Order: sequence, then C-alpha cells, then structure tokens
Amino acid sequence: MADFPKTADCVIIGGGIIGASIAYELSKKNIKNIVVVEKNTVGSGSTGRCGGGIRAQWSTPENVKLAMASVKRFRELEEELASVTEYEEGGYLILAHSDTEMNQFRENVLMQKKHGLEVEILTAEETKKIVPLINTEKITGATWCSTDGSINPFLINFAYMKNAMDKGVSLFTRTEVLSIKTGDSKITGVSTTRGEISSPVVVNAAGGYAGFVGSTAGLNLPLTPHRHEILATEQVNRFFRNMIMSFEYNIYFRQVKDGGIVGGQTNPGEKPGTEVNSGIAFLKEMSVKLNHFIPALGNVKILRQWAGLYCMSPDAQPILGEISGLAGYFHACGFSGHGLMLAPRVSVLMANTITDPSFSDPDLERLGIDRFEKGIVAHEKSVV
Ligand SMILES: Cc1cc2nc3c(=O)[nH]c(=O)nc-3n(C[C@H](O)[C@H](O)[C@H](O)COP(=O)(O)OP(=O)(O)OC[C@H]3O[C@@H](n4cnc5c(N)ncnc54)[C@H](O)[C@@H]3O)c2cc1C
Repeated sequence: MADFPKTADCVIIGGGIIGASIAYELSKKNIKNIVVVEKNTVGSGSTGRCGGGIRAQWSTPENVKLAMASVKRFRELEEELASVTEYEEGGYLILAHSDTEMNQFRENVLMQKKHGLEVEILTAEETKKIVPLINTEKITGATWCSTDGSINPFLINFAYMKNAMDKGVSLFTRTEVLSIKTGDSKITGVSTTRGEISSPVVVNAAGGYAGFVGSTAGLNLPLTPHRHEILATEQVNRFFRNMIMSFEYNIYFRQVKDGGIVGGQTNPGEKPGTEVNSGIAFLKEMSVKLNHFIPALGNVKILRQWAGLYCMSPDAQPILGEISGLAGYFHACGFSGHGLMLAPRVSVLMANTITDPSFSDPDLERLGIDRFEKGIVAHEKSVV
C-alpha cells in the first residue's frame, strides 16, 4: 500500500458503490490526487449486503429520472469498466392487492410514462404469464417495466473502484475518518485513524454512518440508519428473471443467476440504529410470504441471512451536492433502499458539481439539503 498521504485535492469518505462510483467519475475529470478512505473494506457496508435490484418504477419524478439515466449508464458500464457485473434487464413486477393500491399505481405509471419510461399495467392473469408459478389469489394486478433489472452489487462496486485506481485514485481501507476538519466556513481536511489529510474538498459517502460523519463537521443532517434483513436460498432451476415486489406485503425477491432466491423485507417497528444482526422472526415472516407468493418454493432451503443499513432521509430520497456555508463539503447520502441503482447517474452529477462550480442540473438542485426548508420534494412512497 502507498504511503499515507498528507494532502489531497479531494477526499471521499466511504468505499461503497457511491464513494467508488464518484471516485471513478472524478478520475475522468481534471482533478488529481483523489483519496478514498474506507473504514473496513470495499463493499463491506450496505452495498455488499443489498438485493441488487434496479428499477425506475418510483413515485417521485426525481427518482424516476435518476434511475432511468442510471439504466442507460448500467448498459455501458460492463464495456467501459472492462468487468463482468451480471447486469441483467429481467424486469420488475410490482404487485397491487387492492383497487386503492392499483389507483395509486396508475398515477405513478402516468408520471413515469411522462418521463419516457416504458411501463405497463397488468391484470392478475397477465402477471401470471410473466411468472407462471406465482399465486395470484390476493393480487389485483401489477405494474411491469421490462427494462428494470438487477446487478451483482459486489462486482459493480469492485469494478468502479478498480477502474478509479487504474486512473490514479488512492484507496486506503481499514482507515476510519474520525472527523472532518473545517475553518473559516470551509473544509480543510480530515482526521483519520492513520493521520490527517489536508484537502479543500470532502465527499460524505459514508452510507449508514453519513449522519455521524457529517456531525463531525458540525452538521446536523436529517439522516437515520435503519437495519434491513435479507436472505438467500439454495439454488433451484431458474424459473423467473425479474424482481417481484409487494408494498402491501412489504417484500421483494428475485432469483439470481445461479438459481438462489434473494429477498428481504422492512421489519415493522425497526428502530434507528447501526446494529446489523439478523434474527429468527425475519426468517419466519419471509418464509411465510415467499411460500404464499410462490407455493412451489415450499421445500426450498434457506442457506443464509444477513442485514445491512438503509440510510434514511425524511423523504426517502438522496441528499446530494454542496451545503451553503461550508465550502468544499459535498453530500452523497440518504439513499434509503435505492443507492445501488442510482449510483451511475448520481456519480456523474456529483463529479460535475465538484469540479465545476457553474454546473447546474434540476435534479441535483431539487435533491439538495435545503429542500427540507423549501419543502419542494414529495415523499417517495414506493419503498420496501
Ligand atoms: C438489505 C438491503 C437491501 C437493499 N437492496 C437494494 C436494492 O435492491 N437496490 C438498490 O439500489 N439498493 C438497495 N439497498 C440500498 C443500497 O444498499 C444502498 O443505498 C447503497 O449501497 C448505498 O451505498 P453507499 O456507498 O452510500 O453506502 P455503503 O455501501 O454503506 O458504503 C459506505 C461506506 O462508508 C464506510 N464508512 C462509514 N463511516 C466511515 C468513516 N467514518 N470512515 C471511513 N469509512 C466509513 C463504510 O464502511 C462503508 O463501506 C439495499 C440495502 C439493504 C441494507
């Protein structure tokens, strides 16, 4: 490993998908001496614990647009990063269980189509054509977008980081940022477990720990970490390629390329915190739900379970860009359950705004932290 640097042009805190993708996009710009500081290992945070789902079927225009632009980038990335990522457009089936829910979905679909997304409303019978083994007993209908899909989160995280390093980015793992240093209303650097780095620019991409990291610079960020549990089953012959989601049943699951089913839910009543233990209650609830939706999974064994953190913002949308009054500090956090899928677009926007003070983009501006004072963004409803 290289000597620990005393100075940098930009320090990125966190080596998850957000930190790695920003490092890569920045490395293509005219900025040298970019340092990524990661307290554990690349992908050890939420990214390596996530479901790998990618969808543009959201309830807010900001998320729809960011996700659609990310899908365009995902299509290019295997070649651009010269890496296998297991990216696949298998589609997302979002199940409705009542007329009220279906009406909400119709509104979403209208807005999504306005932004150019190819999405359709299906009847229960049409839903069964996509996944013949699904039990449609309690299904009123569904929405379907065939360009939604999935990716292997480790592979894309590693690919971004490797390509960033090939372009000169320095990575220091097992190195924790203890505090962000400030003076005269601007960033001066970071203090870490391996020494101080002076830098005029710091990016907070610390995932579930972003609120804590921001507080070391005196910022009171509206972010809370929440544990989310997930499981994987043994391999079975692949019988569907898409993600299946139900907000009513609070569940999502897909069959990964090797045949295992990977799925999770939000634990009702989960309190904020950074614990990532996993428990038996989740296993029982998930098994019942999986058996309900796909009765043929009845005898399939669960191989492992784990948990990770959602970094929740008040409206379940990311917080991006600079903050007024602290020059050189940039947020890229608060991604809730959708940071992996938004990373390709967010990283391009972040690299542009970090390197060009005159850069402006309507989505970036609407997702600034000042929106909570201005009240300009609606709450994202389509979350598990
Ligand atoms: C169970 C589960 C399922 C999910 N499913 C999906 C999905 O299907 N699709 C999707 O798009 N998203 C999903 N998500 C959300 C997604 O995982 C996150 O939004 C995304 O990974 C956030 O990336 P990140 O880089 O911001 O955070 P992380 O991957 O957590 O990276 C942050 C990094 O910062 C490091 N760090 C923290 N503090 C410090 C410090 N002080 N100093 C140095 N380093 C520090 C951490 O060690 C960590 O590696 C899921 C999340 C969970 C938990």
